[in-house]
Amino acid sequence: MTVRTVSLVTGASRGIGAAIARALGRRGGAVAVHYGTHREEADAVCAEIRADGGEAMALQADMGNEAQIVTMFEKVDAAFGPLDCLVNNAGGIIAVKPVAEVDAATVNRVLAVNLAGPIYCCREAVRRMSTARGGRGGVILNISSMAAVLGGLPHEVHYAASKGGLDSLTIGLAREVATEGIRVNAIRPGVIDTPIHAAHHGASFATDFAANLPMKRAGTADEIAEAAVWLLSSSASYVTGAILNVSGGR
Ligand code: NDP
Repeated sequence: MTVRTVSLVTGASRGIGAAIARALGRRGGAVAVHYGTHREEADAVCAEIRADGGEAMALQADMGNEAQIVTMFEKVDAAFGPLDCLVNNAGGIIAVKPVAEVDAATVNRVLAVNLAGPIYCCREAVRRMSTARGGRGGVILNISSMAAVLGGLPHEVHYAASKGGLDSLTIGLAREVATEGIRVNAIRPGVIDTPIHAAHHGASFATDFAANLPMKRAGTADEIAEAAVWLLSSSASYVTGAILNVSGGR
């Protein structure tokens, strides 16, 4: 008997998260498609997953809000049953400012959304997956960034620092739950052509920046999804605490 896989992908209304959700959907099973503000886009991702034969449900939560995150996990429990895969993908740049100008609202928000939110998601996932707590094990994947090791694009140091925290979360949690049937890994995307850049750098940023990249092109969300699917699969059964650069050499 094949066990149906239940996955939750945060920030799956667009960009990298949507590509990962679609890729998981193509493998069958159930995918909870989390979104922040883009309900219609999340519904469209769900429709594609269903068209490919999977189950899907759109779920809203502010990643900076612990109570909303807890409720989101409860809704996944009720709709799909035990969670197998969590992808902590939702995140944002919040603001582009030099450290000398950065304000508390920016710092608090970037850490709340990009780091605290994923920590709460990991907590909820571990409580459900841990074999020490009666769960059946599982896999967690954090979407970090090359910013964690490069310091970020100009004036995005606060964002880079939040992603550095995500790397530490990955390494530490992997060790903490290694005997509980849970693997924890991360991907550090390089510059990927998604809507994330539009608000701060203009819609053509990924193309404009290509000349600065080793391969002379930005990556695609689907190229991140390919790596994500592998890390989430049993083919990566001895991979935990790993952080994979999918960055075209950047
Ligand atoms: P997008 O801006 O295209 O998508 C971001 C997703 O996260 C959306 O689904 C959005 O939901 C959700 N999200 C953002 N903030 C919140 C919030 N406060 N609460 C709930 N949901 C939220 O970004 P990408 O696909 O490019 O990025 C995905 C991840 O990859 C991010 O963590 C990003 O930091 C990381 N990354 C991206 C790189 C790139 O070059 N694109 C490079 C390195 C890392 P909604 O739109 O519905 O509000």
